[in-house]
Amino acid sequence: MHITRSKSLFEKAKNFIPGGVNSPVRAFRAVGGDPIFIKKADGAFIYDEDDNEFIELINSWGPMILGHNHPMIKEAVIKAMENGTSFGAPTAREIEIAELITNMVPSVEKIRMVNSGTEATMSAIRVARGFTGKDKFIKMEGHYHGHGDSFLISAGSGAITMGAPDSPGVTKGTAKDTLLAPYNDLQAIENLVAANKNEIAAIILEPVPGNMGLVLPKERYLEGLRKICDREGIVLIFDEVMTGFRLAKGGAQELFGVTPDMTTLGKIIGGGLPVGAYGGKKEIMEHVSPAGPVYQAGTLSGNPIAMAAGLTMLQYLNSHPETYLELNQIGSKLITGISNSLSKLGLKYTINHIGSMYSLFFTDKEVFDFTSAKNSDTSLFGKYFQAMLKRGIYLAPSQFESLFLSIALTDDLIAKIIQANEESLKEIL
Ligand code: PMP
Repeated sequence: MHITRSKSLFEKAKNFIPGGVNSPVRAFRAVGGDPIFIKKADGAFIYDEDDNEFIELINSWGPMILGHNHPMIKEAVIKAMENGTSFGAPTAREIEIAELITNMVPSVEKIRMVNSGTEATMSAIRVARGFTGKDKFIKMEGHYHGHGDSFLISAGSGAITMGAPDSPGVTKGTAKDTLLAPYNDLQAIENLVAANKNEIAAIILEPVPGNMGLVLPKERYLEGLRKICDREGIVLIFDEVMTGFRLAKGGAQELFGVTPDMTTLGKIIGGGLPVGAYGGKKEIMEHVSPAGPVYQAGTLSGNPIAMAAGLTMLQYLNSHPETYLELNQIGSKLITGISNSLSKLGLKYTINHIGSMYSLFFTDKEVFDFTSAKNSDTSLFGKYFQAMLKRGIYLAPSQFESLFLSIALTDDLIAKIIQANEESLKEIL
């Protein structure tokens, strides 16, 4: 595999862009080697600047649930472009997408569009604070909610990959209102609630976290959080930026039957364009400006191109529920193949899997929270990543990310991934 052009682009990029990339994990620091620069993507494939072809399991970190460059999304974008790219004024399509999301996501009665997942979570916390009149909130260790100051404390995703789960630049004043709990531990929540009686505005979490690698909620954990929040008057926020419209039409909250008070969304609702959103119960959302006093705004929010792409994507998912069956089948086939290879090779590595998301952890111990995720041998993961890349499979360049599957993965491609996985494991061990 030649990556001559990617190498020289990276060298040049470092002169003008910090670390050569616009988002840290892209720099391949955790897996070694130089990042590949992408020229185009189509279906299940991406192509780099050196014209290498890869089957890809990142899917833009989630949104490409139908595969890359889907003709339907492309057409919607081109059509919308013909009428101009931004107005900074309300449009009919914003109502259409808002109404559709309220129909699809159980907790969402009203919704506000923003431009990224980061904005969605920052705004949701502000609204929860404004609604309850309380300052503190609980966040789970290893969960990632974007790069808002109050979330960069024991954060997952790129923050842990770069070894900086607590970022410099976040003031002590901000950090003191973020209370930390291990995921999947209801007693830890009870202890925090007791020690901060009537001071906690919200509990925010990824219901199925994908930012410390993929981790699943233990039985009755989400229900337990719901009960505590009801009892204590705490706003329960599910960050479904990754899981929304992916695990089910109504996200993890539909799948697990637990309805939060607020939900943050992103990725899929933009069909690959920059969008985020936060929504929830009417009584809470009525606190958002101009209906209420909690200020939140955005010049490009509800951008007509992004709305066209997102609406097309959501309309498709809403009218094709079989997509989720298909995604689950693709996930099952792949995981069965990978598990068979592990048994054949006598390896006991942990695979966490749900629907179209999975992580292979380089540890034989159960992974159920941040501490157990860190048992994984990350240097071995780096070798595995490179071995897979060499075989034409592009994985997320960090152990602490989930992989995302799309319906563009055919049986042939799944077989190729399984074979590459087996060969890669053999090579590195
Ligand atoms: N929340 C979750 C659960 C995420 O996975 C991410 C990003 N991967 C974010 C928030 C932040 O979204 P963005 O990168 O669009 O700001």
